[in-house]
Amino acid sequence: MTIQSALRVKIFTLFPEMFPGFLGQSLSGKALEKGLWALETVQLRDFATDNHKTVDDTPCGGGAGMVMKPDLLDRALSAHQPLGRFIYMTPRGKPLTQKLAHELAQEQNLSILCGRYEGVDQRLLEAYDAEEICIGDYVLSGGEPAAMIMLDAIIRLLPDVIGNAGTHDEESFENGLLEYPHYTRPAVWTGPDGVERPVPDVLMGGHHANIAKWRQEQSEAITKERRPDLWDKFKKKD
Ligand code: SAM
Repeated sequence: MTIQSALRVKIFTLFPEMFPGFLGQSLSGKALEKGLWALETVQLRDFATDNHKTVDDTPCGGGAGMVMKPDLLDRALSAHQPLGRFIYMTPRGKPLTQKLAHELAQEQNLSILCGRYEGVDQRLLEAYDAEEICIGDYVLSGGEPAAMIMLDAIIRLLPDVIGNAGTHDEESFENGLLEYPHYTRPAVWTGPDGVERPVPDVLMGGHHANIAKWRQEQSEAITKERRPDLWDKFKKKD
């Protein structure tokens, strides 16, 4: 197979042993083996200059926790140029969306800084013009799981990672809607509650136009009910 555009990822972290983690399994793991993406981890502690290998210091102005030092991070980042698109995972960042995942999947080089403690000295983020990305409205203990989740969303969009290129088209968020429900055999299934549940007739009829219409209606109804924010945007596009 010719590799069209391998994505090269650099991860700046205090815990390189966390990688590739679950990204080494299943789709992303196979893609890594095939060279569709490449991973380099950088141990930030290697760039500490004192005997204690210090990576953090107390926050100026006081308060709880510790802050990752800008001079240490600068040494690590400048030793690994070019960075390509430089991302800092942070709850303060713009939300990771499917649209942003598609955009990041077009890149050839991504460098991702994983925070720990209270985060990173602000001056470092400014000096490197970091793009700040958040994976959801909750606080994790470190940027590593956030980086992995973001990469999982990106890697499955790379060319040749999922066999059938059309697979993404009907997925949730792709057209602004949540996906319709799925069914497989048996045609009638009895659950632990004793209720017989048939697969909807339309899906067993083989009439493609009717199936497409039913799926679209389901997608719209589910989005309207569960995600009024997405539904409002979808309706505005009409
Ligand atoms: N003091 C920070 C705050 O209140 O926003 C939280 C720091 S958190 C304990 C440590 C690191 O985890 C952050 O620097 C960031 O790299 C990462 N992190 C935590 N939650 C995240 C999220 N929702 N999205 C992206 N990164 C996150």
